[in-house]
Amino acid sequence: MTTEMASRVPIGSHQELSALEAAAAELEVRPPSAFRTIWEPAGELRQRALELGAEEMVQRATLLQAGVLLREGQTGEGGQMAHRVRVWAEEHENRYLLARAHRELSVFYRHVGDFSDALTHAVQSVSFLTEEVPPSLRARHLMTLSVSLDDTGSHADGKRRAHEALALAAQAGDTEGLSSVLNNMAYTAVEIGDEPEARLLVAQMRELQARTGYRFSANELDTMAQVELMGGRYDAVEDLLSPVLADLVAANEGDAVAECQLTLSQARRLAGRYEAAQQALDGTRAVCLERGLAGIGARVRQEQAALFADTGRFAEAYEEHRAFHAAATALQSVQRDARARALQAVFEANEARRASEHFREMAHRDALTGLYNRRYVNERVPALLLESAAQCRPVSLAILDLDHFKRVNDTLSHATGDTVLQHVAELLEEAAPGSAFAARMGGEEFLLVFPGVDAEEAATRCERLRLRIRAHGWEPITGNLPVTTSIGITTAPEGCSTFSALLSAADRNLYAAKHSGRDRVVAG
Ligand code: GH3
Ligand code: MG
Ligand code: MG
Repeated sequence: MTTEMASRVPIGSHQELSALEAAAAELEVRPPSAFRTIWEPAGELRQRALELGAEEMVQRATLLQAGVLLREGQTGEGGQMAHRVRVWAEEHENRYLLARAHRELSVFYRHVGDFSDALTHAVQSVSFLTEEVPPSLRARHLMTLSVSLDDTGSHADGKRRAHEALALAAQAGDTEGLSSVLNNMAYTAVEIGDEPEARLLVAQMRELQARTGYRFSANELDTMAQVELMGGRYDAVEDLLSPVLADLVAANEGDAVAECQLTLSQARRLAGRYEAAQQALDGTRAVCLERGLAGIGARVRQEQAALFADTGRFAEAYEEHRAFHAAATALQSVQRDARARALQAVFEANEARRASEHFREMAHRDALTGLYNRRYVNERVPALLLESAAQCRPVSLAILDLDHFKRVNDTLSHATGDTVLQHVAELLEEAAPGSAFAARMGGEEFLLVFPGVDAEEAATRCERLRLRIRAHGWEPITGNLPVTTSIGITTAPEGCSTFSALLSAADRNLYAAKHSGRDRVVAG
């Protein structure tokens, strides 16, 4: 797609850059199952960005390629590339790339069996997300965090994150995302031995499949197989996983095939088919070595010990068990676990603070227009007057009331009235730059507060606003009904006044404006 797009882009590197950006954004939201379609366009994107000297775009393309390598099982190379992008993003304080690089690094550390570092990066991959990130991408980051929390034993937190991811994937209509979250939840249920919960989740996955025609990935089939394994249905395990080993199913994660082989080996051992079990296990070991999958590698040793024991080779079982134990200890460090958990706690605290700021902001806003409301004004203006009085700075205040607004409601509709109020609110915002602000006091009455603005300047600004409102393009909204305002202004020249004194002075002037014919400004 990039070559085509590049040749179609008109001359001018600015335009070409935004075309490249659109191409990158599209590649970044492609579902994991499409990862094989990413390498080439990302390479072309990277090449073009290099030629244009567009550093950030080079990094985005590099990270896309890192993601492909990790999924292909080129663990080390993918991890290194992601690491370099993270360093660049840190130097340039690029939040979007930081979020994305940390997510790939989390995947990398999980594959090499370092669950603590995987959690550290997963936490950061969520905390660097910005508001503009599309829901399906946000869902993937939350899922990575959820998986890492589960890997390190924080199942309650993991479940909460999974539910957040589920809601976002549903909102985005992202079937693959939904299935993948359900799959991770089922996998966790298997890990903690909760078979009923695991069955329920698998049933939900099948329902989704029936509804959408979605094709399960290797990881998803592996989870289903593990649920069958729990119930002792070994033939079902074989049925589910043989298509994966015959390469008939997409393996979207670098460790998926190894996971499937390991599950198969376990099922065969438990069914008493020891030779076949050994065969699958040897296959797993080879894949783990080739792909640097130390995490599953440790579990291969564990399974080998069990296989030796079940076939009466106790000395070898003991040796293998010791080797497993050494490998597992090397991977797990209590200290690092603690550090990762601490980071998670910090993140949760930040998130709670942001949420409370959000609610406070909401409580200060008018729902229809988005302007500040009376509650905010009552808190803010008295404090502002104290500051201004301390600095002997003027404060001007204006009350606006729409003229004959009842007519708009009565002859057109209440909804039209609402639209008029929203448009007026926008014009008020424009008229209140910098430290000035606009508020809706109720109904069709508004307040403008101008800190540091004297009486003359306030009159000029309000007169300009009055003209701006009457000249606005109302015709499509109200037809031939004009929209005008009356405005009453007052000023505390050295900031020495009370809010109520200023309000009643401005109100008196508004009354005068109405009575001398409306559509005018009265000050003084
Ligand atoms: P005047 O020029 O004297 O201000 O006349 P007016 O019709 O604007 O004044 P009045 O106070 O009699 O009517 C205000 C109208 O504003 C009455 C009410 O229906 C309408 N109103 C108040 N709040 C809202 C609202 O949120 N949406 C809509 N559409 N109308 C509202
Ligand atoms: Mg009115
Ligand atoms: Mg009114």
